[in-house]
Amino acid sequence: MNNDDSMCERLTNMQTAWSEATPGETHATWSGHLTACGKPVIEAKPVYDSHPRDITCAECGGTAVFDLETARTWARVITDTYEVSGRLSLLDAYDLRETAVTSLAPKAFVQRREGDSWNAISTNFLMSTGAATEKDGTSIFVGRVGLAVLEAFRESEYKGGY
Ligand SMILES: [Zn+2]
Repeated sequence: MNNDDSMCERLTNMQTAWSEATPGETHATWSGHLTACGKPVIEAKPVYDSHPRDITCAECGGTAVFDLETARTWARVITDTYEVSGRLSLLDAYDLRETAVTSLAPKAFVQRREGDSWNAISTNFLMSTGAATEKDGTSIFVGRVGLAVLEAFRESEYKGGY
């Protein structure tokens, strides 16, 4: 186990990996067969020699450094209230959470690697979705789900170097 990853359970089985589909790109795999972004693995490093800092694929990087399951759970707390009130169907709520988690993880990974603060990342997100300025219910709701996801990423972020 790597020293910088030792506090992070999801990294104890992570291997950096390569795929023929994306020459030169370094991915992460947990199965040894598929990368976290769904590409077939042709070669993988042993776990002890695999570090998040070596990952170049943003999608795999996001999966390695953040806990996406925690983010789904936290987003669910927001969408549940809308489901209960009948303003959102079960399927729409699921789609919204998945979209928020899978689109924000790679973005946040890239931004963290560039040294951005969580504050900057949240502000960026609110500006880009219009949630900071739009006053309609949908924008505010999307903003709340996104912020819950980003908050979960911040809490679950691995503590090693980028
Ligand atoms: Zn990947």
